[in-house]
Amino acid sequence: MANLCGCGETAKCRTSWTQFNLGRRFLGCPNFMDPTRNCNYFRWVDAPLPNRWYQGTMYQLHVNLVNAQDQVVQANNQNSRTAFYNRVLIVLIIRMLLVRLI
Ligand SMILES: [Zn+2]
Repeated sequence: MANLCGCGETAKCRTSWTQFNLGRRFLGCPNFMDPTRNCNYFRWVDAPLPNRWYQGTMYQLHVNLVNAQDQVVQANNQNSRTAFYNRVLIVLIIRMLLVRLI
């Protein structure tokens, strides 16, 4: 059975990424950004995290994951730039060799 919000629409299930409710799912109005609707439907799906230690640990793991993802993106960008410069260098070397052969 679908959960309907005050607008009569099916509430969307999302995941909280705030420090004290990290990874905790909730249902919310799909129109929550629309001020003309004035629908504040909100309901937690998951139980609260057990204690502050657990919340802090989950938050630190989340921060570590986000930082690691950023590092992967930066490494991929660096690899793309290096591959591009390597191709340019190979083309220049081949041209130099061809000029000397002719
Ligand atoms: Zn609504």
